[in-house]
Amino acid sequence: MPIRVAVPRETTPGERRVALIPEVVRKLAKLDIEVLVEAGAGVNAHYPDAEYDAARIVTDTTAMYSEADVVLTVQPPSAEAIDKLREGTLVIGLLLPFQRLEHITRLKERNITSFAMELVPRISRAQSMDVLSSQAAVAGYKAVLMAANLSGRFFPMLTTAAGTIRPVKAVIIGAGVAGLQAIATARRLGAIVEGYDVRAATKEQVESLGAKFIDIDVAAEGTGGYARELTEAEKRQQQAVLAEHIAAADVVITTAALPGRPSPKIIPASMVADMKPGSVIIDLAAEGGGNCELTQAGEQLDHNGVTIYGPLEVPSMLAVHASEMYAKNLLNFLTPMIQDGQLAPDWDDEVIADSALTHAGEIRHEPTRKLVAGDAS
Ligand code: NAD
Repeated sequence: MPIRVAVPRETTPGERRVALIPEVVRKLAKLDIEVLVEAGAGVNAHYPDAEYDAARIVTDTTAMYSEADVVLTVQPPSAEAIDKLREGTLVIGLLLPFQRLEHITRLKERNITSFAMELVPRISRAQSMDVLSSQAAVAGYKAVLMAANLSGRFFPMLTTAAGTIRPVKAVIIGAGVAGLQAIATARRLGAIVEGYDVRAATKEQVESLGAKFIDIDVAAEGTGGYARELTEAEKRQQQAVLAEHIAAADVVITTAALPGRPSPKIIPASMVADMKPGSVIIDLAAEGGGNCELTQAGEQLDHNGVTIYGPLEVPSMLAVHASEMYAKNLLNFLTPMIQDGQLAPDWDDEVIADSALTHAGEIRHEPTRKLVAGDAS
């Protein structure tokens, strides 16, 4: 029997992406994999059922789950969906380790093998599977367009019969994947861009995109290419230098994050008070509490003429390409697990082992296991 892969319709409010797009389904079909797509699964991402010509469109969700060997999702499956799965089924998606403890416990109890795409190690070999990168790139790009929409200014310099318009000054804070994409996008629109990050390695990356690096003389590399939390003295030094750049900016985009911790607060209310009326802050860290003290997740506020927007579900706003990139990441993650037409994950492969959330009746991800056991140390 061929391997059966199911793609359910996402049910999380605000989620518009779909786990597989038609082009990727065709690639799986060529590998003799049967793909079951729940009716309407791609509609919110503008992939109608009719385009899934290599898939079987199913309307009976219960039957789909009971037939599946592999379930590919964007958001974690609901408790009801988990209960419909056969024991031993593979579930692959953004499964929110650290957060969905009840669902993860249910996956463990039902003997489901689940892989959280957030846990794919960020090594060169796994770059093509890295959903954090693909979706962060979407968010960085979209943040600039949101800023352009909310700003009353042109981004580029314009020389017109009505005079010369000066370009927008944009400051991008956090130069990881989202921040670098935001810098590149703002530059393409013609803005004068400054970038800042606590990791010294980003200076060259920021400059290679044609932006100026704001040098604060605080180096805070953590482990695994991530930043560490700043000390109080370092935070004061950071704020002292950033204040003047932010006061001069028309657009500020913040993307700073720390793994497993709330977003660092980089822009206090006092800094916003010094900004010009009409300036815009897009806080991409809103989900983790925001980089700006005034950000409210999902809200757009006006603070003395400064617009502060903390958008949520940003990749869903660009659902066509976000789904395409996500689906290709899943394809690259799944196909190495298939040997001679059978599912055979190689547990000695660090990509597979590190991404496993539950397997063989256990929670494999240690921090999540500790949280479930009530031991957060
Ligand atoms: P992230 O989303 O965790 O954080 C965004 C940025 O915020 C980071 O660059 C971080 O240094 C920065 N930051 C944190 N605290 C800050 C503060 N107080 N002030 C200013 N900036 C602050 O980062 P990410 O985009 O996921 O990237 C994390 C790392 O992973 C980077 O080193 C990146 O190059 C690396 N990476 C590796 C691969 C790979 O090899 N497969 C793929 C993608 C990313």
